Amino acid sequence: MQCSNCSAPIRGDYHVEGVFGLGDDDESPAFCHSCGKTFPWTERKIASAVELVEVGADLSPEKLQ
Ligand SMILES: [Zn+2]
Repeated sequence: MQCSNCSAPIRGDYHVEGVFGLGDDDESPAFCHSCGKTFPWTERKIASAVELVEVGADLSPEKLQ
């Protein structure tokens, strides 16, 4: 695996003593350590979060009346 922006190798073996086991979402870095570019999986997480907010907005009481 490498960064699609700067081709730097992505650190996939980054472990911190005492932090291991917090959750699956923390296994991969959110952005490139070299250029700071967010990785596709990070952008998908953000996009899905935005979609959830938009869906929630559509279900607001004002639009149900
Ligand atoms: Zn990069």
